[in-house]
Amino acid sequence: MAKVVLKRGRANPLWHGHPWVYSGAIEREEGGYQPGDVVEVCDADGRRIGRGFANPRSQIRVRMVGWRDEQVDDALIARRIEEAIALRTKLGLPSEETTAYRLINSEGDALPGLVVDVYGDVCAVQFTALGAKRVEGAIYEALAALMKPRAIVEVSAGGFAQLEGFGSATRVVRGDEVETVRCRENGVELEVEPLRGQKTGMFLGQRENRRRLGALAKGARVLDVYTYAGGFALNALRSGATSATCVDSSARALERVRSHAELNHFSNVETVEADAFRFLETTRPKGWDLVVVDPPKFARARKDLDAALKGYERLNTLAMTACAPGALLATSSCSQLVDGESFERVIAAAARDAGRRVQVLESSSQGPDHPVPPAFPEGRYLKFLLCRVV
Ligand code: SAH
Repeated sequence: MAKVVLKRGRANPLWHGHPWVYSGAIEREEGGYQPGDVVEVCDADGRRIGRGFANPRSQIRVRMVGWRDEQVDDALIARRIEEAIALRTKLGLPSEETTAYRLINSEGDALPGLVVDVYGDVCAVQFTALGAKRVEGAIYEALAALMKPRAIVEVSAGGFAQLEGFGSATRVVRGDEVETVRCRENGVELEVEPLRGQKTGMFLGQRENRRRLGALAKGARVLDVYTYAGGFALNALRSGATSATCVDSSARALERVRSHAELNHFSNVETVEADAFRFLETTRPKGWDLVVVDPPKFARARKDLDAALKGYERLNTLAMTACAPGALLATSSCSQLVDGESFERVIAAAARDAGRRVQVLESSSQGPDHPVPPAFPEGRYLKFLLCRVV
């Protein structure tokens, strides 16, 4: 097995559990390897930190899978998947109320480059690293044996596959043909389309935030901007919100919202197909009791960060302007690069721009089925603030 030796002083984050070896931290590589192979990672004194998937095409040269003496083989993969299932069981997932959840969260479950989301009796698998893709056979075996799903589907993560250099298709890997899958989140009935939706079919990271918002939604008129399949609005309606207006630029997503409204017997749902900024700027909606803004990632790379922060500030100014006095605003950023402090600063600037006083009631992130290693802030991608706009 090839060996990657780190520069002196660069091993500390790894000893603390940060799972990435950047190319700049490497002193030398001993022995040849193919992209996607497992390599050994050592500190400058030759002590083995562990083993991981290597990819010379990536800035992230090695993604750690095994720590210390752990061998990276099919048995380890099966064990990791078993551990991941045990954690979700401890978290009460699945439950009567919730059958859509994340089973494997990449680095957070020590299986970098692998996401597995569960929708009812279907597992949706997504690869974001070549090394994980190379062991897909072992992953499917373990999932089939341990979860006994009706079907396993692969959902292509196009950009990542290209970056990492592997072919990836959206397809049924095992079991039945899958169109729509019935499942539930916080008691809301859903029909997910893993093969045709965004992400693996849903944005599961927001489940707990949707539930929290629902608990405060009684009697509210809700504006849910970037609604996707209606997640926040549906949770609010289930808890007694009086109506919801759902805005998204995707016609397909809004079709989901309408079928979800029907499925749950909510008659007071309006869908608006529009660009969010255009909608908020030109329609100038006012007087809502509860406003949700949950945009896609604004900052993809570090060079986009300033523009992204300006975008969040403008969006939240518009969202605050749409709030009735004393309304609630649930606002999110899913940009890895925007940390919690910067996001709160953006909200403060937006409050100034909108001429409103804002109280932050809760600050949170993704749910516990999206765990992260403590030394890996990169994994805590979601920032969520629940505010009152006076
Ligand atoms: N709130 C959703 C997740 C939102 S994901 C949930 O709880 O599940 C981001 C959404 O923004 C996607 O549905 C995408 O279609 C939509 N979107 C992307 N760009 C947009 C734009 N410019 N205007 C409005 N919606 C947009």
